[in-house]
Amino acid sequence: MEDEEGPEYGKPDFVLLDQLTMEDFMKNLQLRFEKGRIYTYIGEVLVSVNPYQELPLYGPETIAKYQGRELYERPPHLYAVANAAYKAMKRRSRDTCIVISGESGAGKTEASKYIMQYIAAVTNPSQRAEVERVKDVLLKSTCVLEAFGNARTNRNHNSSRFGKYMDINFDFKGDPVGGHIHSYLLEKSRVLKQHVGERNFHAFYQLLRGSDDQVLQGLHLERNPAVYNFTRQGAGLNMGVHNALDSDEKCHQAVMEAMRIIGFSPKEVESIHRILAAILHLGNIEFVEMEENGPQKGGLAVAEEALVDYVAELTATPKDLVLRTLLARTVASGGRELIEKGHTVAEASYARDACAKAVYQRLFEWVVDRINDVMEPRGRDPRRDGKDTVIGVLDIYGFEVFPVNSFEQFCINYCNEKLQQLFIQLILKQEQEEYEREGIAWQSIEYFNNATIVELVERPHRGILAVLDEACSTAGPITDRIFLQTLDTHHRHHPHYSSRQLCPTDKTMEFGRDFRIKHYAGDVTYSVEGFIDKNRDSLFQDFKRLLYNSADPTLRSMWPDGQQDITEVTKRPLTAGTLFKNSMVALVENLASKEPFYVRCIKPNEDKVAGRFDEAHCRHQVAYLGLLENVRVRRAGFASRQPYPRFLLRYKMTCEYTWPNHLLSSDREAVSALLEQHGLQGDVAFGHSKLFIRSPRTLVTLEQSRARLI
Ligand code: ADP
Ligand code: MG
Repeated sequence: MEDEEGPEYGKPDFVLLDQLTMEDFMKNLQLRFEKGRIYTYIGEVLVSVNPYQELPLYGPETIAKYQGRELYERPPHLYAVANAAYKAMKRRSRDTCIVISGESGAGKTEASKYIMQYIAAVTNPSQRAEVERVKDVLLKSTCVLEAFGNARTNRNHNSSRFGKYMDINFDFKGDPVGGHIHSYLLEKSRVLKQHVGERNFHAFYQLLRGSDDQVLQGLHLERNPAVYNFTRQGAGLNMGVHNALDSDEKCHQAVMEAMRIIGFSPKEVESIHRILAAILHLGNIEFVEMEENGPQKGGLAVAEEALVDYVAELTATPKDLVLRTLLARTVASGGRELIEKGHTVAEASYARDACAKAVYQRLFEWVVDRINDVMEPRGRDPRRDGKDTVIGVLDIYGFEVFPVNSFEQFCINYCNEKLQQLFIQLILKQEQEEYEREGIAWQSIEYFNNATIVELVERPHRGILAVLDEACSTAGPITDRIFLQTLDTHHRHHPHYSSRQLCPTDKTMEFGRDFRIKHYAGDVTYSVEGFIDKNRDSLFQDFKRLLYNSADPTLRSMWPDGQQDITEVTKRPLTAGTLFKNSMVALVENLASKEPFYVRCIKPNEDKVAGRFDEAHCRHQVAYLGLLENVRVRRAGFASRQPYPRFLLRYKMTCEYTWPNHLLSSDREAVSALLEQHGLQGDVAFGHSKLFIRSPRTLVTLEQSRARLI
């Protein structure tokens, strides 16, 4: 590898390890990290460890070094992966994708930004205006999405609270001409409640801290986030979008500017602010029970009516309707007759919260859609322009295990099972295709197939999601506990499922509350508490209708389903779990149709400290990302395969026929001569363009003789 350092920096590719044990893997990872080498390959997969400090690894000069090169010509880098995906797309007109995974704070989102930066830097040399516009939108969209979809958490001060998949469309010249963003599973419960030390979504604080007095007055807001229930917990914490030093004020400016560049109209921006303000006011509304013998005869009332005025004004809806919607719901009784059923305090509070969450979620989705409108490839005609090719970038939450795991972790971990399954399939498929291309006999590879875990979750009728949906559609009181019992009956023999009921001696699970899935990445115990409610994810039709009837066209457009009348709402909306499953199935199908590149991110310590490598913490991630398995699969048939020129580049100094340059008729001949001199010719197969090496031992021998010389 040109530019590559000596053995003191460890192996730039884990495939080159002498022995494939966890110890050796970790040693190499740590050694490289401590020497500032945060990137290492497993074949074409990039492993990255978050340095938590600015390293001189990025920028135009480095980009120039990687531009147009082959993966192996330079030290491992994100730019190399971006370049490989870009080149593969351009060369073969094939759609490619880059899948970035890892736990919260591991550096996924930063990685996706470097990839975009790379693509922006190497495209549009002729400065076409439309392409520049698309690039601007692509780059600025991150800032806006982070304002609405990111929050400060204890694990990451700028944590994405949604999964993101972004397609970038390229024309035949290889210039970006459009794009599309899909978002997944926004953590909307954060609108209501945050853990100690965490915040709500950045957008709320930016609005409060960054707006002029006049704007705030118009929204009836006070500047201090401690005034609002929804922002009270994180009120003392300042935090910007770009880094911890940026203030909310500055970020507010940056987001406003980004929205302007993207093409949000001033009216739309005002609507967004009014919606955010309405959510904050909504969060402060409290309900009180009226006295039995008072004028309202024990009905329900709102403690502070002014708040209802504000919500009505900001959402452009009639005040009396807002009040009615907060205090009661309409139910269809018997035939077509509608009656109004008053809420209890608990019901009204629950409905208020459901409304706040839903309004925020729809706002977020609207923002994404709006960006998509602007990035829609314009005026393209496949007959004239040829077919666009696409690079997809997936930045999605990694496997999660907390002391208590709920529905959200269940979904996230299911998503990771799906992606792992795809990863294995694609890697194996790629191997097979390569053997065929190179004219090498196929060797089968043994690996752990997690299909059975995916089935456990998504199988029709009996899978966990289906059982959950069944529970959600059952009329009358169905409890989380009954749901758990049904799971137990269906899956008591499943090798990856257990619960206290099935495993009475296992005290790490609580009886009647927990079930456990043996994920490919490790065991996770889920508490069923709240599963049914979160899956049902219902909002009374009255709220939908109220918002659909808003005089604000932006808000109204977010609630098309509010048009229906209660008597028409016969079909239940799809549950959160089913919607998520469907979006995962579509995502995996989409990724499977593309040529994949992988970035596996590792978080070196829990404290966000620069340069500290917490061995146990990293080892855990290496285990659940399945990296050893990855190297094993990579080495199973053939430990390594390298194009002849690359092989020579690395080992030519070990043989007098090849150093400094060979005089043989082809690189293949030269490689053959080199191997013969080392007595290694029995362990390899010669493909059309690549050398295939069977055992790692051979690589080790070559590496050692190389190391002796440098
Ligand atoms: P994730 O998206 O995986 O949750 P982020 O990409 O948001 O994690 O990274 C968390 C933080 O780690 C960033 O805000 C940044 O401070 C730091 N970080 C991540 N990647 C890098 C990098 N390549 N160089 C320097 N700092 C980084
Ligand atoms: Mg992120």
